Amino acid sequence: MPIITMSFDNGPDPDVTPHVLDTLRRHDIRSTFFVLGDKLRDRRALVERAHAEGHWIGNHTYNHLVPLGMSAEADMASGEIARTQELIGELAHERRFFRPLGGGGGGHLDQRLLNDEALRTLVQGRYTCVLWNVVPEDWAYPEGWVERALRLCFEIEHAVIVLHDLPTGAMARLDHFLCAAEDRGAIFQQDFPDACVPVERGRISGPIEPYVATGGAA
Ligand SMILES: [Zn+2]
Repeated sequence: MPIITMSFDNGPDPDVTPHVLDTLRRHDIRSTFFVLGDKLRDRRALVERAHAEGHWIGNHTYNHLVPLGMSAEADMASGEIARTQELIGELAHERRFFRPLGGGGGGHLDQRLLNDEALRTLVQGRYTCVLWNVVPEDWAYPEGWVERALRLCFEIEHAVIVLHDLPTGAMARLDHFLCAAEDRGAIFQQDFPDACVPVERGRISGPIEPYVATGGAA
């Protein structure tokens, strides 16, 4: 009987985020939205609504161009994180959630996630770094992600699933996923398992070396 934690990355999107919020509300499920600073600037009302409905708001970099562990440019990682956090402002959770971009366009958990500067920014800024363990690739399989997600979620005790409130068409199937998971006995929980949180409020709380590039920006 798995626990499932929902999360939505790369938004907000004016055509998709409201639908996702409506669907989650119907199921009485709270999630976390890891937003991009660049989109938040003129779409703040969407994030305010998510926050008002009990969802947590996290930082997912400003423009999501390059996984931070693949950048050797000084001040890039710290700027991506700090700029976005400033825009999130009072909508931030007190644990200051940050989620890095996955490497390789497939949500891979490897040394492409962070560089030394990014890790230092997270520690000094008392951020909580949130990873994941289920990536059904909703962007690549706008229909088929539901079956993939169900299979992956039911293989583990506590799934943290990454979906995207982006106009791929995939979120039209969100209700179907939630109904199917509930029918099979899944329990939805907003908080993350420790295994997906290597940094908690700036304290390194789990193995971090697998996620930090060696020899990148100092
Ligand atoms: Zn992303």
